[in-house]
Amino acid sequence: MNKVVIVTGGSRGIGAATCRLAAERGYTVCVNYRANRGAAEQTVAECARAGTKALAVQADVAVETDVVRLFETVDRELGRVSALVNNAGILEAQMRVEDMDSRRLTRIFAANVIGSFLCCREAVRRMSTKRGGAGGAIVNVSSVAARVGSPGEYVDYAAAKGAVDTLTMGLSKEVAEEGIRVNAVRPGFIYTDIHASGGEPDRVDRVKAFVPMKRGGQPEEVAAAILWLLSDEASYATGTFIDLAGGR
Ligand code: NAD
Repeated sequence: MNKVVIVTGGSRGIGAATCRLAAERGYTVCVNYRANRGAAEQTVAECARAGTKALAVQADVAVETDVVRLFETVDRELGRVSALVNNAGILEAQMRVEDMDSRRLTRIFAANVIGSFLCCREAVRRMSTKRGGAGGAIVNVSSVAARVGSPGEYVDYAAAKGAVDTLTMGLSKEVAEEGIRVNAVRPGFIYTDIHASGGEPDRVDRVKAFVPMKRGGQPEEVAAAILWLLSDEASYATGTFIDLAGGR
């Protein structure tokens, strides 16, 4: 069977690691990207080296028409989507709540929540057995921030990821009888470029202070959990959250 996965924000970091591992596991891979076509094409080439078909598709997941076009492109070029990884997300500079303006909140919620929501909608429209689909699996990339709240640094981001968790929980029940499983991973500190935007590129001291394992995680350690949740080995898991946070 042709397994087709869409990974949003797949050009780098956790998304790129997920694309590479999906390719190794035999998926046909759609590498979604917003702006960095070069990086997305590199991920496509890495997937191709694993012997699978891959395609880079530009779309801003926060823009409804882009998301519709993304899924239509996959329908046309790769075949019916059977797996979705809502990985695209943003973090902004550390700030206390009294300094956050509504433009920042709109950006944070657009990328992290609305993007995940719109992609879930398009996936459900195609996967639901009630609508003639063949089922599928969705994994949302949340954050440990949804549990700890990230006081003094990113309560906006934490609240957005909390919404992603609630979307995961609610949608998993809504589509449970329609052949679709919906789960999430909650990474802790993972070594990726997202921290450049948070103004704390390595966070070595804080990682040592807060993470029982005394280290950050690698994108591949998150990708492995995502691929498990997508796989048939996780056939009874829905509405499940896997924390990948070194014991935090
Ligand atoms: P990253 O910045 O390397 O990757 C995020 C990707 O999402 C980028 O390629 C970015 O261009 C893309 N993206 C952002 N907004 C988009 C949009 N509107 N449309 C399409 N693409 C968009 O960071 P990462 O660490 O690999 O993050 C991946 C996911 O993991 C994010 O959802 C992030 O919130 C989550 N996460 C990361 C960490 C961490 O410590 N790195 C921890 C917890 C959760």
